[in-house]
Amino acid sequence: MERRFACTACGKCCSGRLPLTLKDALAHAGRFPLAMLWTVVRPGAKSFALTARLGTEVRLGKRKSIAVQITPVSYLPPLMACPALAADGLLCTIHAEKPLRCRAMPFYPYREERDQADLLVPRPGWLCDTSEAAPVVYRDHEIVGREDFDRERQDLVEQAPVLKAYADRLLAMAPNVTAALEQAANKPQGGYVVLGFSAVLARLGQIDVVTFARRQLPVLSDFAARTAGLSAAGEFHRYYRDSAAGMERLLARHSQGAGTKGNSGG
Ligand code: SF4
Ligand code: SF4
Repeated sequence: MERRFACTACGKCCSGRLPLTLKDALAHAGRFPLAMLWTVVRPGAKSFALTARLGTEVRLGKRKSIAVQITPVSYLPPLMACPALAADGLLCTIHAEKPLRCRAMPFYPYREERDQADLLVPRPGWLCDTSEAAPVVYRDHEIVGREDFDRERQDLVEQAPVLKAYADRLLAMAPNVTAALEQAANKPQGGYVVLGFSAVLARLGQIDVVTFARRQLPVLSDFAARTAGLSAAGEFHRYYRDSAAGMERLLARHSQGAGTKGNSGG
């Protein structure tokens, strides 16, 4: 079995939610409005074991455990263009530094390598080339040019302990997260929960939280303004507005702390 695929740079997949590695999320905090997406994977699903390894596993009451894919994302409404897409809708303006997710497309390292074939079928409207003129990219359930897939998978493996520690802490402190996962698990198609990004910062030992917040706050404020009054983007608007308010409080706490230290040091 062989599959052919070439990107024609049509820009059609550059809108809506963009999954990121933690490293890419931090690197692009001045560009993308960040959130954490917790996606439920039910027992028996093909990617259950891999999802549990890269994210976490949660027991819901007396039911079997679910696996949860925990993904930092650029959190955009489905039809809103990526902020890095040029006005022509074609060009990626950050080509040299674009996230690993965009480099590894259409492969997806949250799935086992043997289960990638259907990702090579373009969605309606996408102008990916899958003709005989395109190169073979997948053969006998193995990826042919695999460097970007391997790099993204490697980052996901390396960040897994951080995400597990973050998830354990949040699940212990916030019972509403478990309740929201239970609701998501009960949806016929499966579901997801969107959480603020800032809770993961505490698990990233060496990060400068103030610098992060100063970069992320204007992005969240900008997207809050862009989605104000858009009824189809109401949940996104509330997320941007509330997360921006959280960043402002964080910065205010840090500046008060700095002021107190400065005064007492005299
Ligand atoms: S970073 Fe570039 S390639 Fe990736 S979604 Fe945005 S515009 Fe597209
Ligand atoms: S939809 Fe296909 S051809 Fe268009 S930018 Fe995305 S991967 Fe490339």
